[in-house]
Amino acid sequence: MTLLAVNDITVSYGRLTALRGVTLTIAESEILFVTGPNGAGKSTLLNAIAGVVPTGSGSITLDGARVTGTAPEEIARRGFSLVPEGRNVFGGLTVEENLKVGTGMRADRSRIAGDLESVYRDFPMLAERRHTTAGMLSGGQQQMLVIGRALMAAPRIMAIDEPSLGLAPKIIDQVYEILMRLRAQRKLTLLIVEQSSTRARMTGGRMVLIRGGRIVLEGEAADMVKDARLKQAYFGFG
Ligand code: ATP
Repeated sequence: MTLLAVNDITVSYGRLTALRGVTLTIAESEILFVTGPNGAGKSTLLNAIAGVVPTGSGSITLDGARVTGTAPEEIARRGFSLVPEGRNVFGGLTVEENLKVGTGMRADRSRIAGDLESVYRDFPMLAERRHTTAGMLSGGQQQMLVIGRALMAAPRIMAIDEPSLGLAPKIIDQVYEILMRLRAQRKLTLLIVEQSSTRARMTGGRMVLIRGGRIVLEGEAADMVKDARLKQAYFGFG
């Protein structure tokens, strides 16, 4: 079943066009990697789906309902949770306070305590540090925290912008282990911006390559990383 459909969207920032007719679909519990060089439009794609930046044309459908032009809070309520680039924890708040910030959009507030416990089960490291100030956590721990915070919104689909950025390979492995577990256990659908095509290949799933605001290549991640066109498209020659 298609959970998210992006149909021919364009996004402009003033005179700069960042996305030019992007179309993609994601099925329930699928993983879709978005890769591409700096400035290609990857973050813009996630932000457009989240309703954070407006689309100029085209449409976005989430679970069968058109969400184009809908407020970000409403899109979050419908099950799309964005983990933006840069691990924006509230450094002065505790881990638990940070997690509770993720529940702001929810109508079913009675389930928050239970969901907090389930995030702690998924991330024992966060449970151990629930009273620690988030600013004291390592980069990897902060990445887990922002993923945990996004889970507190009870999403059906989570979009994560560059979860690996600046983390050691061993820590990246841990982040992906957790994401794969969440996918299996919660049927969570994942849309991940990832510069490392190796990581996409190891994890499986589909991949789209964006360059200059357009999807220039798409396919199974495992096949695409073998494709010389990936490197060519990435570096802009060939
Ligand atoms: P990176 O890997 O560097 O984050 P990206 O693929 O995520 O790159 P975007 O951040 O989506 O790319 O940027 C696409 C284009 O839009 C770039 O040319 C960028 O400079 C521009 N851009 C992004 N955000 C804004 C903004 N808020 N205002 C104006 N231009 C923007």
